[in-house]
Amino acid sequence: MSEQLKQEQVLTHSFASTEAGRDELYMYSLRKMADENVQKDVNLITNLPTLRAFFYTCDEVMMKYAETEFALVVLDIAQFKAVNEFCGRSAGDYVLKQIAAALIRIAEARPLSYICHMRADIFVLLTPYLGQDDIVSVVNELKSDVDNIEVDCKLLPAFGICTTINNGRATSYLKDCATSALNTIKGKFYASYAFFDEEMRTRQLKNKKIENEIVPALKNGELKLFVQPKVDMTNGKIVGGEALVRWVRPDNSMVSPGEFIPVLETDGFIINVDYYMWEQVFAFIAEMLENKQQPVPISINVSRVHAYDTDFMQVLKELSEKYDVPATYVPLELTESAFSDNENMMYDCMRELRKQGFKVSMDDYGTGYSNMRMLKNEPVDEIKVDRAFVNDIDNQKGRVILKYTLEMLKELGANIIIEGVETEAQKDFLIECGCKKAQGFLFYKPMPVDDFKELILESGR
Ligand code: C2E
Ligand code: MG
Ligand code: MG
Repeated sequence: MSEQLKQEQVLTHSFASTEAGRDELYMYSLRKMADENVQKDVNLITNLPTLRAFFYTCDEVMMKYAETEFALVVLDIAQFKAVNEFCGRSAGDYVLKQIAAALIRIAEARPLSYICHMRADIFVLLTPYLGQDDIVSVVNELKSDVDNIEVDCKLLPAFGICTTINNGRATSYLKDCATSALNTIKGKFYASYAFFDEEMRTRQLKNKKIENEIVPALKNGELKLFVQPKVDMTNGKIVGGEALVRWVRPDNSMVSPGEFIPVLETDGFIINVDYYMWEQVFAFIAEMLENKQQPVPISINVSRVHAYDTDFMQVLKELSEKYDVPATYVPLELTESAFSDNENMMYDCMRELRKQGFKVSMDDYGTGYSNMRMLKNEPVDEIKVDRAFVNDIDNQKGRVILKYTLEMLKELGANIIIEGVETEAQKDFLIECGCKKAQGFLFYKPMPVDDFKELILESGR
């Protein structure tokens, strides 16, 4: 009879007769089952434990060796897909096995080290932390092992590192933090590793807070519709507005969109916020029309995330129908970056929306990459020149760039609006260049929608 079997029989015998014994026996069986599962939970290519098994083992180890600091390293190969595509799947598998072998060598040489094959080309190592230099030497050793793998593709390994110092001892959290660190250097060939640091931690906590608070904030009406007027610079008349979201907390403090929109674009909640804002705009214009007041078009921002949200066109169509507001009253501002994300779909959407009567404005012109192609092939109704151009008016080169950019846009037949006009000098120069429409603090700052209404009513439109 095996030693283990004997031990089990003794346990069963001595424990099963009392209640405490039965509890202990139950815990023992659970643990045994988990251990067996861990042994079965392996990646089929490399035979290394999977993430689930790794979490279980590492949590136990870090609990047991409470005095030891650990570092968790996530290893990712940039563009690994290219290895499979250009060198073949078996070459890809070969690379993964070689990486596994390198990790095994390192883990064997360092007591209390554990590794896993998380998925695809991502591996994780947990090892005692003996200082930054020590971890950097581990990472460099791994990097040179990867560099030496014989394959006809360049392999670019990148490492994200998180230590237990100040970051707790939960493997899954350490893994998330190491992954955040890794993401900061992804695609940068000159940096091969990054530590999760204080700054990242602060940002992560801030982002988490935003993620947690935005859902109730939307429900409780903390997200407000502000509008910034657009003017004709030659006569000061208000020709439209742009809807801008403001998050006003119960204590009246304001969170700027620059702070929370990037977070919501990561978790997708911007879609809900946009739908909410759009509805406010349609409702506002409908109310003015009902009261026989003459509204001006108020443009809405369409986040780049909608490039992956096939519903947004239907939503716009339904809002226009529900509020009986003609689509021309609600132009759409799409950023260039939306097109670099999912170009063909965005072109299709744009054509469809224009057919329905929506005007399309290309926001932040000059900050993205797809602008030339779009100008050439896809008619947009308006180009919003980014305020970075206007900021540069003070220097001679900046003036030349702006002047000829505007000339080119005009020659292509585009309607132009300039963002971020702050000074009289900028205004004069832009009028000299033949631009009329602008939006900027020199004229008006974004204001609560009710103030905007008063303003356009007073201006006697
Ligand atoms: P954007 O669409 O380019 O909006 C113009 C931004 O420039 C606004 O910033 C506005 O306050 C600011 N601005 C206008 N004139 C001036 C000026 O003369 N000087 C300076 N320094 N700034 C000026 P805001 O409201 O902070 O919004 C920032 C960005 O957040 C917007 O850029 C837009 O991309 C995004 N955003 C705002 N509201 C929404 C929304 O409801 N949905 C989506 N998807 N994005 C929004
Ligand atoms: Mg905009
Ligand atoms: Mg803009």
